[in-house]
Amino acid sequence: MSDITSTAVTYPVMETFSTLQGEGEHTGLPSYFLRLAGCDVACAWCDVKESWNVEGFPRQTVDEIVANALASNLSTVVLTGGEPCMYDLQPLTDGLHAAGLAVHIETSGSNPITGTYEWVTLSPKKFKSCLDSSFPLADELKVVVVNKHDLEWAQEQASKVSDACILFLQPEWSKKEKVQELMMDFFKSDSGRRWKMSVQTHKYLGIR
Ligand code: SF4
Repeated sequence: MSDITSTAVTYPVMETFSTLQGEGEHTGLPSYFLRLAGCDVACAWCDVKESWNVEGFPRQTVDEIVANALASNLSTVVLTGGEPCMYDLQPLTDGLHAAGLAVHIETSGSNPITGTYEWVTLSPKKFKSCLDSSFPLADELKVVVVNKHDLEWAQEQASKVSDACILFLQPEWSKKEKVQELMMDFFKSDSGRRWKMSVQTHKYLGIR
């Protein structure tokens, strides 16, 4: 049965690459990134707008995706996009797990989170609300900060995740100097005590 399922389902693969996880709790973890095409969130400051449209990207079966992931010789697959939760990801994560790989995902949570994961990075966006059902699944919450109001919005999002969830604020890259100053003031306040800053180390290192 599982063979029939895994060969029937396909996903639009925008790109894959081996690198170091650049952000969040697993910063520095060698990882195989699998970026699915398609996004219905449309963030104004998105730095992968070419991922929004699925047209032109090849669809691959689970077996093809798993074979390519295994060829990387890395043990962790990071599923990203686009917005990967536009698709039913259970067949994909089942296939990756059957091959002995750990699976992490980064999602806005604005579509139901399907699949099974070793780590869920939830990054809600103002541009399309995160579903209530997504918040309890988060291992880490990552809120991109552009201005002071985003810090208040981040606290609203944090009130919906579990107590064990790690909280990250990430300065929007093009405004990072100004935002880092805002964040330091926030970290010193009572509201800021649970939060850490997510540094986009891959951008400083000049890697993907
Ligand atoms: Fe870009 Fe991600 Fe926002 Fe989609 S959810 S628009 S890929 S930043």
